Amino acid sequence: MNTKKKKVVVIGGGFAGVQCVRNLDENLFDVWLIDKLNHHQFQPLFYQVATSQIEPSSISFPLRNVFRNKKNVHVRMAEVLEIDPAQKMIITDIGDFTFDYLIIAIGCKTNFFGNMNIEQNVFTLKTTYDAINIRNHILQTFEDIISAKKDEKQALLNLVIVGAGPTGVELAGAFAEIKQHVLPKDYRELIFLLLKSCLLRAVPTR
Ligand SMILES: Cc1cc2nc3c(=O)[nH]c(=O)nc-3n(C[C@H](O)[C@H](O)[C@H](O)COP(=O)(O)OP(=O)(O)OC[C@H]3O[C@@H](n4cnc5c(N)ncnc54)[C@H](O)[C@@H]3O)c2cc1C
Repeated sequence: MNTKKKKVVVIGGGFAGVQCVRNLDENLFDVWLIDKLNHHQFQPLFYQVATSQIEPSSISFPLRNVFRNKKNVHVRMAEVLEIDPAQKMIITDIGDFTFDYLIIAIGCKTNFFGNMNIEQNVFTLKTTYDAINIRNHILQTFEDIISAKKDEKQALLNLVIVGAGPTGVELAGAFAEIKQHVLPKDYRELIFLLLKSCLLRAVPTR
């Protein structure tokens, strides 16, 4: 290793982190890419995983594989817990890493706009694991509907999507597609006309 190289720690292997690491000159920098997940996620297609249209592996790319040919890049799967700027060090759940330069590319969290009721009761869609959770929940719900009592059925046949931005609209559209073309073939016992989807969008209050 060239000791004159500066050490760059990049936290986050999402779009920003991966693009940044790709562009760091390997003659000048040794790079440590730290992410709590071991794979890059292609978030725009989470909705297709959530509705069983594609497999999780189609949108998850192991970071070690992405940087296999970059000898100056070291990937570590770790959650960053704290940053100590004075010591030029990050503290993670697998140990500490020092740096000359630190790049923080940790993305964002779901915004519930202070609505605790929603926060406590919904599935979020920010990771591949979230998408798999939604997919499993939908499929489990259809299994439950088959054996549910008549008066319990309708509640299980309501799908509510909170947030009518691009993700909410895409999810609702994909769900409409599987309702029409896929689910009736797999769950022949169910009457899919009874399935209601509801897309909620906030409007300004007076
Ligand atoms: C469902 C969905 C659909 C989207 N669709 C589109 C679209 O169609 N078009 C579009 O342009 N954009 C879309 N976006 C937005 C786009 O995905 C984000 O703008 C983009 O991913 C942001 O990139 P980022 O690198 O800043 O963060 P991210 O891609 O979120 O990456 C952050 C990384 O940091 C890691 N991380 C976070 N905290 C820590 C920690 N403490 N320690 C270690 N690692 C950590 C995470 O594991 C993650 O890998 C969508 C987003 C979502 C959620």
